[in-house]
Amino acid sequence: MKIVIIGCGFAGLSAAETLSRRIDADITLIDRKEYFENLALLPEILSGKVNTSDVTGDIRKFAKRTGANFIVGEVYDVDFDEKQVYLRRGRGTEVSAESYDFLIISVGAEPSFFGIPGAEEHSFTVNSLESVLSARRKLDELAQAQAQAKHWHWHCAVEGDGVAEDRSGVAEDRRAGDRSIDVVIAGAGLTGVEVAGEVVDFLRGRGACRIVEMMPRVLPAMPEKVSRRVAHMLARRGVEMLTGHAVQSVRENEIELRKVSSSESVVLHFDMLIWTAGLKPNRLSERISAPKVRGWLKTDDYLRVYGFEDVYAIGDIAHFERASRTSGKNAEEAERQGKAAAENIARALKGKPLKEYTPKNTVQNPRALISVGGNEAIAYFNGILFTCFAYRIKKHIERKFMRKFSVNRGEI
Ligand SMILES: Cc1cc2nc3c(=O)[nH]c(=O)nc-3n(C[C@H](O)[C@H](O)[C@H](O)COP(=O)(O)OP(=O)(O)OC[C@H]3O[C@@H](n4cnc5c(N)ncnc54)[C@H](O)[C@@H]3O)c2cc1C
Repeated sequence: MKIVIIGCGFAGLSAAETLSRRIDADITLIDRKEYFENLALLPEILSGKVNTSDVTGDIRKFAKRTGANFIVGEVYDVDFDEKQVYLRRGRGTEVSAESYDFLIISVGAEPSFFGIPGAEEHSFTVNSLESVLSARRKLDELAQAQAQAKHWHWHCAVEGDGVAEDRSGVAEDRRAGDRSIDVVIAGAGLTGVEVAGEVVDFLRGRGACRIVEMMPRVLPAMPEKVSRRVAHMLARRGVEMLTGHAVQSVRENEIELRKVSSSESVVLHFDMLIWTAGLKPNRLSERISAPKVRGWLKTDDYLRVYGFEDVYAIGDIAHFERASRTSGKNAEEAERQGKAAAENIARALKGKPLKEYTPKNTVQNPRALISVGGNEAIAYFNGILFTCFAYRIKKHIERKFMRKFSVNRGEI
């Protein structure tokens, strides 16, 4: 019996771990990367609180521990009739196929720019280690340019060439202020808010951080009291929030917004734009002919792709809805779905009835631990909101997760 898992994120790894405990089967993991990336930790790369080894895990070692095979390759198609998965290996030139008896699709999501002109071209994203490292490099470049400009003005003041009035630092400070690093974040969802906190920690007073959001409040998917508290915490940290502003277009160093209430146009300058405004299904979903909801793979009550008995979709790529409860796109749901799908495959193989999945962190009733930088966070669970120890709890859960998967640390 061969079970193939495409995508080794929170969902895929959780499924593999449960399968390895529950049944004796040939499990093959496929991922386009050799390393698991803990997306929830990526914003902290911006401030330097964590580095690459803290946010990654060696899938090969994980596979060895769980007795699974691991193939590094990008899946580009699936043939459900022939039960074949097609992938490109190496630099994309080598093509191969893997057959399966059961298939789990857990390839996640990718950023969406909603076709807004210039948005993709002129912004940074934080949805992968590679993209967040590139954003961090940009922040470093901006800080370095600012420091050089400061040094130059100080030098002019010392030399007395008339550029600065004296050595007291007054003129220097004024000019340095002129060279403030302007960071704009598009989207005030969970990721945008966390990114803002980390950007403020990076800037340490060297610049300004603004969040632009189309909806009338930050964290629009969370209850209002959570939004209010997070907005208050961000404002205290100096983040400017432009809610009710929809992005119209982006040019080099300029973002054009439209006030939702009055249609008035507003243009903001930026040195760096970080895009966290939307998610869309992984592009593999386009190749899969199966029922979908806005591109996400629609699943039945047991997490199987609708209409299939041997194909499951879990994590961000899946749309799971049961009794008016829709799974949220978060790490907790991805992990729980991974376990539940594996459990159902084990049941199917043993001839037992499958178990219906019950989501917990839902669109209708979300829960989250949200950090806002400065080692502060808020926790929202079952209607209760608290800040005390929230950051420590978040860190503890993250560390436990990385330990649980016994991911091997090492610079990549
Ligand atoms: C910056 C950021 C911060 C976040 N913070 C939080 C948070 O604090 N709390 C929280 O609960 N959630 C958070 N999330 C959301 C959470 O990370 C996702 O919900 C979760 O990662 C979904 O897990 P997944 O397994 O479905 O997908 P992923 O974790 O994205 O894994 C998908 C895997 O599939 C692989 N893959 C993709 N396409 C292919 C292909 N064609 N072939 C082979 N392999 C492929 C990828 O390399 C990847 O390893 C955050 C997300 C981001 C981007």
